[in-house]
Amino acid sequence: MKINVLGCSGGIGSGLRTTALRVNSSTLLDCGTGVGDLPLEDLFQIKHVFITHSHLDHVAGLPLLIDTIYEKLIDEPLKVYCQPKTYKVLMEHIFNWKIWPNFFCLPSEEKAVVQFVAMQPEQTIAIEDNRYTMIEVEHTVPAVGYIVQNGTSSFAFSGDTASAPKLWQALNQQNKVDLLIVECAFAQERSEIANQAKHFSPQSLAAELAVLSHDPQICVSHLQPGEEEKIMQELHEAMPQRNLRSIVCGETLSL
Ligand SMILES: [Zn+2]
Ligand SMILES: [Zn+2]
Repeated sequence: MKINVLGCSGGIGSGLRTTALRVNSSTLLDCGTGVGDLPLEDLFQIKHVFITHSHLDHVAGLPLLIDTIYEKLIDEPLKVYCQPKTYKVLMEHIFNWKIWPNFFCLPSEEKAVVQFVAMQPEQTIAIEDNRYTMIEVEHTVPAVGYIVQNGTSSFAFSGDTASAPKLWQALNQQNKVDLLIVECAFAQERSEIANQAKHFSPQSLAAELAVLSHDPQICVSHLQPGEEEKIMQELHEAMPQRNLRSIVCGETLSL
């Protein structure tokens, strides 16, 4: 499977985009500003969007994506997968006719261009050759990560979190884990803010990963703009034995 990193930064700026990962051509994990870099013909191919949580940096591209590909969705609606409590927030605060139209009932409720698919933690949904399993993680709002597997390879995406014991437990039950995409938003000197905002900082991530029995390639995302090198250096010092690197917007990972 191919994972196209459309956005993986903790903020915006030249070359920086917020969280959006494209799996093959049809599926997104989160829909941050990175989705806006895709050419129109690629946007038309997106049929499924899995959302980790309701924060703006992970959903900012969704209202604009739907509007842009609206005509293509008349025959085949876009499916948005998330927890019901996340969907509720999106409806109350974004698709409320004030910030953006409610595309979940356009052009009619019976034949809307966007379809909400309720998912619960531990649930798995199959799309094409891949299985997407939702795993609950801890953040300031209800949040999840996903484990994505096909017959030959697997990866996990933490979403935003300061603690994810269920994710490590689920991964430890797998035969193998090829890739872990995990956030580490803040440098160590900002660990207090990281704790308040429920994000990882280098030492808290190292402490969590101590329980992970696999040794996957670890790609670190959500780095605070301007602090990328510092955070990565601190992570290497905290976990010298781990296979760690940062990911950059625009790169493609093949599993
Ligand atoms: Zn968040
Ligand atoms: Zn975020």
